[in-house]
Amino acid sequence: MQIFGPEELLQRIHGQDLCTACGACVDLCPYFKTHKGKISPIFSCDRSQGRCYAHCPKIDVDFNRLSETFFNKPYKESPFGEVRKICMSKKGVNAPEGTFQNGGTVSALTIFALQQGLIDAAVLTDRNGIIPKPRLVDSPREILECATSKYMLAPTIACVNTAGEKGYKSLGVVGTPCQMTGLAQLRCNPLYRKDFNDITGLVLGLFCSWAIDTSRFIEFLEAKEINVAAIKAMDIPPPPAEIFVLTLEDSVVEFPLNEIRELVPKGCTICPDLTSEWTDLSIGVLEGQNSWNTLIIRTEKGEDLVNDAVNQGFLELAELPEESQKNLTHAAANKKKRAREASDALGLNCEEFQHPAKKTQKQTIMGFR
Ligand SMILES: Cc1cc2nc3c(=O)[nH]c(=O)nc-3n(C[C@H](O)[C@H](O)[C@H](O)COP(=O)(O)OP(=O)(O)OC[C@H]3O[C@@H](n4cnc5c(N)ncnc54)[C@H](O)[C@@H]3O)c2cc1C
Repeated sequence: MQIFGPEELLQRIHGQDLCTACGACVDLCPYFKTHKGKISPIFSCDRSQGRCYAHCPKIDVDFNRLSETFFNKPYKESPFGEVRKICMSKKGVNAPEGTFQNGGTVSALTIFALQQGLIDAAVLTDRNGIIPKPRLVDSPREILECATSKYMLAPTIACVNTAGEKGYKSLGVVGTPCQMTGLAQLRCNPLYRKDFNDITGLVLGLFCSWAIDTSRFIEFLEAKEINVAAIKAMDIPPPPAEIFVLTLEDSVVEFPLNEIRELVPKGCTICPDLTSEWTDLSIGVLEGQNSWNTLIIRTEKGEDLVNDAVNQGFLELAELPEESQKNLTHAAANKKKRAREASDALGLNCEEFQHPAKKTQKQTIMGFR
């Protein structure tokens, strides 16, 4: 894979609205910044190679390299990647109470990993008003504050890029498939930097079909005269509900999912990963039982953590119904198929996109749209 620099990143990804604002390119240099869920360089940079390009999950991802690095084997495409075990799970009786999106598996395991010393901090996603905000936390209280899903693009990995400077040695990271792919690229040290130190200690991935563009969502809500400051929680109940539910301070509002899908960026349509394949553990909602999660155990580290958490009452496990596994397999395979078709339709597999000519025209100051 040929690694280019920021100009090519802007031309190939941002210029075609394919960025999903995962944050993997943010805060590596003084240029790429994030604002209201968008990522943009504030000044031009003419480096011929950069980590911004090398970490991007939307460009030239070398699945074989990731698979060899994290699972010690060549990549073999399957609906949801490497699996040691798949089951259903929820927070156990000894994990702290809180308000969780589903079964609380993510928060319970993050707190447990912190208390066991497997991690000394975690990169999570909180909210500032309605805008998702990456947050570096190192206490159970802060982990609980970050619980629940913000169904919007979030530059979570930006926080990984700066956590090392704060002296943490082993980070837990929670994120969606694009964020986890960006993180995996970053952990492979694609530019072979001598000063690189992988401080990632545990990776918890979320299932994700798509996320909403934050700016477009704010405009959508304002047009409907919804007070964004009053939003308490959001949910997408599993099929066949086809609705998006917003819990406000004094009411609950529902929108047809089709209206919300209009706010999903093009970059989500080319994502082949439903279950966050480059992780220790992946967690999603269990269809038909919102207070449980589906849990995929991918690595030995993940399996040991889950077993210890079960033994100490932090996690409860149960067998996943055969029908649920069948439906998940179908949904994950479908996402891969749709991503392939979308990439073809957008011309991303053509020679010109795969091997771009070096751009000669210089960028000037960039702005946030
Ligand atoms: C954008 C998005 C789309 C999703 N789509 C699906 C789906 O299609 N199918 C499915 O089964 N599950 C999906 N999920 C996962 C689901 O909503 C729950 O996160 C999951 O079931 C874990 O539940 P929990 O109770 O264990 O989480 P909790 O214990 O409540 O913890 C939630 C965690 O999610 C993190 N988080 C919240 N928002 C974001 C964000 N935008 N980016 C990164 N991290 C975030 C928080 O840091 C927190 O640690 C999606 C989640 C997100 C954020």
